[in-house]
Amino acid sequence: MRTIKDPKEMQAYSLKMKGQGKTIGFVPTMGYLHEGHLSLVAAAKTKADIVVVSIFVNPTQFGPEEDFRSYPRDLKHDKKLLNDFAVDILFFPSAARMYPKGSQSFVDPGGLAEKMCGLSRPNHFRGVDTIVSKLFNIVQPNLAFFGEKDYQQQLIIRKMAEELNFPTKVISLPTIREFDGLAMSSRNKYLLPEQRKQAAILYQVLRLAKKEIKGGEKNSRRLLSRLRRLMASAPSLKLDYLVIVDPETLEETKTIKGKTLIALAAYIGKTRLIDNLVVETK
Ligand code: AMP
Repeated sequence: MRTIKDPKEMQAYSLKMKGQGKTIGFVPTMGYLHEGHLSLVAAAKTKADIVVVSIFVNPTQFGPEEDFRSYPRDLKHDKKLLNDFAVDILFFPSAARMYPKGSQSFVDPGGLAEKMCGLSRPNHFRGVDTIVSKLFNIVQPNLAFFGEKDYQQQLIIRKMAEELNFPTKVISLPTIREFDGLAMSSRNKYLLPEQRKQAAILYQVLRLAKKEIKGGEKNSRRLLSRLRRLMASAPSLKLDYLVIVDPETLEETKTIKGKTLIALAAYIGKTRLIDNLVVETK
């Protein structure tokens, strides 16, 4: 695996490979890799000739009170994992290279970014759309792979790629979970043992929602109050949001029918975790 740090060198490499008729599969990450990330890498390997993984903890998607500085980093371990997967290129730029002094251009993600996570992280998706567009322009991928774990993120990126005419196909893949259902996340590292135990309730809430909907529950308000009650059984958890929404518009659903997204975010101590499930009914 070759590591490239310079955006210009990365772009030149990609253009050269595409000139030779090769397809490029791209997996953008913030590092501290786990099996969730690696499932995207594995998919990229099967679908593209060249696989590029980026590791960049993007400062513009963190709020001033958030964990940008303390975000877990372990480049040595990440490199080993990517090497084992025979990834072709690790793109590992510095913040100074990605945002040279005086940078002032951003991508505005629009209304979808004002819902759910956008309410407690006001500029988050502006930072996400900006870095992903920059990475798409640098890496020039034919295919780019994202996790459904960050449901709102993949939806906003898909829309951005379409509306800004990127020639990149956005592919979303299922959430990889721990033994007890907790969605894998680099931030799980922050959890103390008791917090880690209680974190499993998040997936139990989603499973209960699925069971109730499959069992015929159509009333969102009634279901939400049942879900909140289960959530309250884990005293370490402070709910940020729990919503039942349309999976395309993220508008709240009063009467559940067709495809429905149940999404949540909760704080355990200072750690903010998110998860979601799409449920389909007739
Ligand atoms: P991150 O490093 O957290 O920015 O994540 C990089 C990519 O990996 C994003 O597309 C995430 O949605 C995806 N991802 C993170 N956790 C998981 C997971 N548990 N299962 C599947 N994909 C994931």
